[in-house]
Amino acid sequence: MLGSLRSIVQQVNAARDLPAVLDIIVHRVREVMDTRVCSIYLRDKQSGSYVLMATEGLNPDSVGQVSLEPGEGLVGNVVTREEPINLERAEAHPAYQYFPATGEERFSAFLGTPIIHHRNVLGVLVVQQAEQRRFDEGEEAFLVTLSAQLAGVIAHAEATGALATIGQQRREAKFDGIAASPGVAIGRAHIVAPPASLSTVPYSCCMDVEAELELFHQALVAAREEIRAVGERLKDELNREERALFDAYISMLDDNSLAVEVCDRIRGQQLSASRAWAEVMLEHVRRFEAMSDSYFRDRAADVRDLGARVLMHLRQQQQSERDYPDNAILIGEELTAAALADVPREKLIGLVSIKGSANSHVAIIARAMGLPAVMGAQELPFERIDGAELVVDGYRGELYVHPTTELRRRYDCIVEEERELARHLDHLAGLPGETADGHRVRLWVNTGLMADVVRSLERGAEGVGLYRTEVPFLLRDRFPSEEEQREIYREQLEAFAPRPVTMRTLDIGGDKALAYFPIEETNPFLGWRGIRVTLDHPEIFLGQVRAMMKASLGLDNLRIMLPMISGLGELEAARKLVERAHSELVDEGYDIVMPPLGIMIEVPSAVYQARELAERADFISVGSNDLTQYLLAVDRNNSRVANIYHALHPAVLRALRHVVDAGHAADTKVGICGELAGDPGGALLLVAMGYDVLSMNATNLPRVKAAMRAVTKADMDSLLEQCLELHCPEQIEETLSSYLKRVGLKSLLQPM
Ligand code: PEP
Ligand code: MG
Repeated sequence: MLGSLRSIVQQVNAARDLPAVLDIIVHRVREVMDTRVCSIYLRDKQSGSYVLMATEGLNPDSVGQVSLEPGEGLVGNVVTREEPINLERAEAHPAYQYFPATGEERFSAFLGTPIIHHRNVLGVLVVQQAEQRRFDEGEEAFLVTLSAQLAGVIAHAEATGALATIGQQRREAKFDGIAASPGVAIGRAHIVAPPASLSTVPYSCCMDVEAELELFHQALVAAREEIRAVGERLKDELNREERALFDAYISMLDDNSLAVEVCDRIRGQQLSASRAWAEVMLEHVRRFEAMSDSYFRDRAADVRDLGARVLMHLRQQQQSERDYPDNAILIGEELTAAALADVPREKLIGLVSIKGSANSHVAIIARAMGLPAVMGAQELPFERIDGAELVVDGYRGELYVHPTTELRRRYDCIVEEERELARHLDHLAGLPGETADGHRVRLWVNTGLMADVVRSLERGAEGVGLYRTEVPFLLRDRFPSEEEQREIYREQLEAFAPRPVTMRTLDIGGDKALAYFPIEETNPFLGWRGIRVTLDHPEIFLGQVRAMMKASLGLDNLRIMLPMISGLGELEAARKLVERAHSELVDEGYDIVMPPLGIMIEVPSAVYQARELAERADFISVGSNDLTQYLLAVDRNNSRVANIYHALHPAVLRALRHVVDAGHAADTKVGICGELAGDPGGALLLVAMGYDVLSMNATNLPRVKAAMRAVTKADMDSLLEQCLELHCPEQIEETLSSYLKRVGLKSLLQPM
């Protein structure tokens, strides 16, 4: 059964559109389960009823004609119960309904399973038999498993289908994702191609067959050249078997029949070169995989690899012909900081990522740059919308492809409102961060890019609470040298001097991967991250802190901060290295003071040892993004669980209060530099808790300052007490937004 499951899912994944998906399902399920009938009903988005969309075994003319409301008939009952119904004699069930158009009266046994995607019943998959018999447990389990696996594919195919038919007429289509960076962007989609993989090449046709053939031939030539060159370079290091592999690759590419097969598809079906190549190569892969001889089975991986190489060349040929449009909205399967950095800043206005969530690092960078972003837009058929007009609603996490004039007009108004609010907040830049009754809190900024510096200074930042040093590392293709780092850090320190700049030591791992230092792990957020990496690589750590200290020469505004500290040992080990770097520099003749050394509290163990850590550190700062993910056991980068990631969860609030109390008991200043500090409502709670420093992106700073200056400390204290009584994050969020509205700060909430 597992083999059948896999092959059905694979086939469905490769299907070109929704009707093809449905046909494959009904055909293959009937064949594998050996039933007389297999049918699929899908929910009609407009009417909410479930319509027969494909069948093998019932009268084909009834497709599109039979429809049931939730709760109506057996299919409608599967929908409302959200579980399978397995009947020996369907006609004896009280909910049974007979549709003469289907010819259904001939079938007795009935098994229907719901197809559920993100808690919504998309449809029902039904098998039927003529005789009276109950489907056995194995059959039921098979259908349940298959329905669960197909739900995502069907949802995606539905979304793609909506766009494909609408595409020619340029009618508006809406897609949902996660609101990741506030604001609205109206512009053109620019797609960042995912890494070459044969099985994810979308179905696409070409306009100009001759040009496509030419593209294909050029890619073949380039791939052949590349393989030859690599084989040549490595020839002394390869054994005979490995050398033979290179020869085999080249002879496959030289083999005319492969090229002929691909060209036939480009000519005959007007397929794009990438799709034609992927189809042909996948067929070869499957043929190898099905062979009984294990040697040949293993060759399937080689064929796949060769396929991916050529695909990469096809992509490169296409990419090199592309320019970034004005008002570019960058879209990719998993956007990275490096992809972002490739686009000229003046052209980039928004981001959309199919994977990831509001707390992924690319979303944090988007917020810092003031770029509206939607993450986790899983159903968006992004490969098909390159160049299309798009509206990104970063407040609600919504996207519109081919927006109507009316929709555009509505969003133009929101953009204008935003500008108005920003102008209104401009005057705050020169005013201190204090409450209406004079309680002073430092409002600092989080930085990473050079662009942040200008924005931060314009907005009156009083210091830097978190400079993410990994950002310049992410934008390079090798580790920056000590001198290169010194120059980068100097710019930051100089720009803010005499204000303090907190530089965090390299925090890679998790969702921050350096292309030139890959970390392959099954559980990266619990793996080799942050301080764990740099303590294992003292040469990297020492080089970095030396560069920071040298950069601070004559300015003395540097603070060093350690990420991901989970116990006292890590702090002590790191302190020794920092002290060693400092004394080496002094020996070398540098007149540098030893900078304050602080730590981030972002791991639950550090919350419970906050007092001991605070006694040994010069300052502590909560990384609430990670702390939330670890306290709630919710991967911050996973869009599937994004709805249960709550920075205002009661457990998180209690931990935050515990940390600030523990820090103050040790007479140590306590800050916070997670995204919560940049949320006006969250910031009021943090001020009430007693946080000394709130560090946030420059975009949010004026909003937080406006909120703080409008309210007294006593009011915040009672708001905090009220929130700490509540048991659910939603209640806390609601309480905060009602409070902001009540005190006349509604404009600081998101529009609409
Ligand atoms: C945090 O975890 O809250 C934090 C500020 O660090 P980062 O988001 O870079 O992991
Ligand atoms: Mg962190």
